[in-house]
Amino acid sequence: AGVTGLTTALVLRREGYKNITVVAKHMPGDRSLEYSSPWAGVNYVPVSEKGTAAEEWDRISWTEFWRLAHECPEAGIHIQKKVSYFVTDSDDEKNDWFKDLVLNYRFLDESELPPGVKWGKEYETFCIDPTIYLVYLKIRCTSQGIQFKRANLSHIKEAFSLYSNTSEPAALVVNCTGILASKLGGVEDDTVVPIKGQLVLVRNESGGMFSMTGAKDCPPGEYCYVMNRPSGGGTVLGGSSHLTWDPEVDMDVAKRIMQRAIEACPQLVKPGEGIEGLDVIHHSVGLRPVREEGPRIELEELPGNLKIVHNYGAGGFGFQSSWGMASAALQKVNMAIRTPSQVRGRL
Ligand SMILES: Cc1cc2nc3c(=O)[nH]c(=O)nc-3n(C[C@H](O)[C@H](O)[C@H](O)COP(=O)(O)OP(=O)(O)OC[C@H]3O[C@@H](n4cnc5c(N)ncnc54)[C@H](O)[C@@H]3O)c2cc1C
Repeated sequence: AGVTGLTTALVLRREGYKNITVVAKHMPGDRSLEYSSPWAGVNYVPVSEKGTAAEEWDRISWTEFWRLAHECPEAGIHIQKKVSYFVTDSDDEKNDWFKDLVLNYRFLDESELPPGVKWGKEYETFCIDPTIYLVYLKIRCTSQGIQFKRANLSHIKEAFSLYSNTSEPAALVVNCTGILASKLGGVEDDTVVPIKGQLVLVRNESGGMFSMTGAKDCPPGEYCYVMNRPSGGGTVLGGSSHLTWDPEVDMDVAKRIMQRAIEACPQLVKPGEGIEGLDVIHHSVGLRPVREEGPRIELEELPGNLKIVHNYGAGGFGFQSSWGMASAALQKVNMAIRTPSQVRGRL
């Protein structure tokens, strides 16, 4: 019941699949290192390359988020200005394919750049509070008749017998197990690795999203970004990327994150203040479910006619690609089962 599973359930439901059960060890509201979704930022800043399937996933998701941001304020999504500063020249960052998708994309004038910054760009895009959005997705699933069941599976085959509505096994299982795809029996994908990301959530207002590439005191694997979550969700300061299952907050990393955030967005604190001016709500650690070859969206058939559609390995883009990845998974489900109205599905 992460963003991948919940979104896939909704997309299957919209297609007409009637009997769907989401089986999960963790549900919205839970906090666990094994459950990536609640720990994300979240913003919509595509990292996909032009002309790839991943670009298509991001485009599909933009359309869905646009509708949610305008029609469903309770979903925890708003549109916010994102200002990106660059301390060094980096031409590849000047040719974003999503220029025409996001709103009011433009390069900053020299007069708008802070000292030491070489160039910058700004546009408007989505900022999502994952804690609100996950609950919203679950409520939307429930209101559409999708069932939920708690279970900690040792093997993917167990999912077939956990279907809620009848004693018959499910016709198909969709595997959206995120980082635990590396451990789940029958899947055990050793190309899925945990990329630890550390964030600081503060009460201070940033008035938008900011990032600074090449900021001072930024060791490899650390970044500088700031985003103001909707509906009083606080301001997220990030971030980091390190290959490890380590669950601990590293306070040296946290201190550097806070210092860099103030460099990129001085209005976070009063003039003259440093990180002591930040009102910290909490520090957090989450794991991005990174898969070497990118997400696995694939149909697999195990002996005994057990059909599985995999949809995991969303890395650091599981929210912004979620609706597109779910649509790709739907195509695989449709390939496996040609009569949607008769299908029993499980996630
Ligand atoms: C610090 C940080 C910042 C991020 N920022 C962004 C961002 O700005 N934008 C963005 O798009 N993405 C961002 N991400 C990435 C995003 O969080 C992930 O890609 C996404 O949450 C993956 O979701 P998922 O549903 O695939 O996995 P998960 O959220 O981990 O969900 C997996 C589900 O499967 C269940 N499950 C697994 N194994 C079993 C089992 N054996 N039995 C039963 N249930 C099982 C779990 O209980 C859980 O419910 C960020 C991540 C981090 C850590």
